Amino acid sequence: IAAAIGTIIGVLFSGTILFMRTRDHSLPNQLRRAVRQKRLSVVYQPIVEVLTGSVVAAEALVRWNDDDDKPVRPDIFIAIAEEQGFIGDITTLVLDRVTDELADILRSAPGFRVSVNMSAQDLTDDTFIPRLQTMLQTKHVPAAGIGLELTERSTAERDIVIESIRQLRAYGHTVYIDDFGTGYSSLAYLSELDVDVLKVDRAFTQTIGTNSVTANIVPQILAMGKALQLKIVVEGIELQEQATYLSGIDAIIQGQGWLFGKPASAQALRERLIQR
Ligand code: C2E
Ligand code: MG
Ligand code: MG
Ligand code: MG
Repeated sequence: IAAAIGTIIGVLFSGTILFMRTRDHSLPNQLRRAVRQKRLSVVYQPIVEVLTGSVVAAEALVRWNDDDDKPVRPDIFIAIAEEQGFIGDITTLVLDRVTDELADILRSAPGFRVSVNMSAQDLTDDTFIPRLQTMLQTKHVPAAGIGLELTERSTAERDIVIESIRQLRAYGHTVYIDDFGTGYSSLAYLSELDVDVLKVDRAFTQTIGTNSVTANIVPQILAMGKALQLKIVVEGIELQEQATYLSGIDAIIQGQGWLFGKPASAQALRERLIQR
């Protein structure tokens, strides 16, 4: 019996050592732990009126450093979280942070709005909208202060998407279609999605002023947005020539990009809004 117990203890003991040694340091597991411990941060990029450069809103962008403290690109870790099915935890974390910081921002800039990126999985989670509403009520943040961005890619289950957008807008949120032009939604689908703002992907912005054929598409996209009565935000404006070209086409067009401001802390955003 003693020998048997010894063997059992031995097995358990080496099992524990083995477990400790093989603790999973893969990126998905590092990310999962970081989310659980809320070790992700949020930065804000101004959205401006392109003609004047005046800040009208901001987009919240999530940031994460891995266990070696090296920044991982959001495109990469967002895709991991989507694959692993815990992107909803990241959305919640970002919304929680943004609503905390927005309460402060609204004191210096009443009526200000921050938009948050959503994933398709958030929309198929039927607790998402009620949880968002509860969060806003608890923190006394108006729904008008939070915009929600949805990429074309994530517009998979169309009935759910359409219904969620309807609910979010009815509650007072501004809904954006993000990265427009990179997905595969048809014009018909876009007009069916009753959104407020079209964000034109920076791939189009990069063609402005070049003699690539795509450059001709930019004014067409702007015209189409106008025809659908959507506001437009052009992404990835890096050069003054791009800004000049865009505001020449449409004086009220909005944009974001390094020319107007890189993503920065809530504190930096607040300082910029106070100067306004
Ligand atoms: P996005 O929503 O289209 O965000 C805009 C991206 O363009 C950001 O990259 C921003 O830093 C970058 N950008 C802004 N201005 C310029 C510019 O002038 N030039 C260039 N080259 N890039 C510019 P970032 O922060 O790396 O985020 C990449 C993508 O990751 C986002 O694209 C969004 O799809 C996703 N993402 C970021 N934060 C979140 C989040 O909290 N939740 C979800 N679900 N996705 C997020
Ligand atoms: Mg976005
Ligand atoms: Mg975008
Ligand atoms: Mg983009």
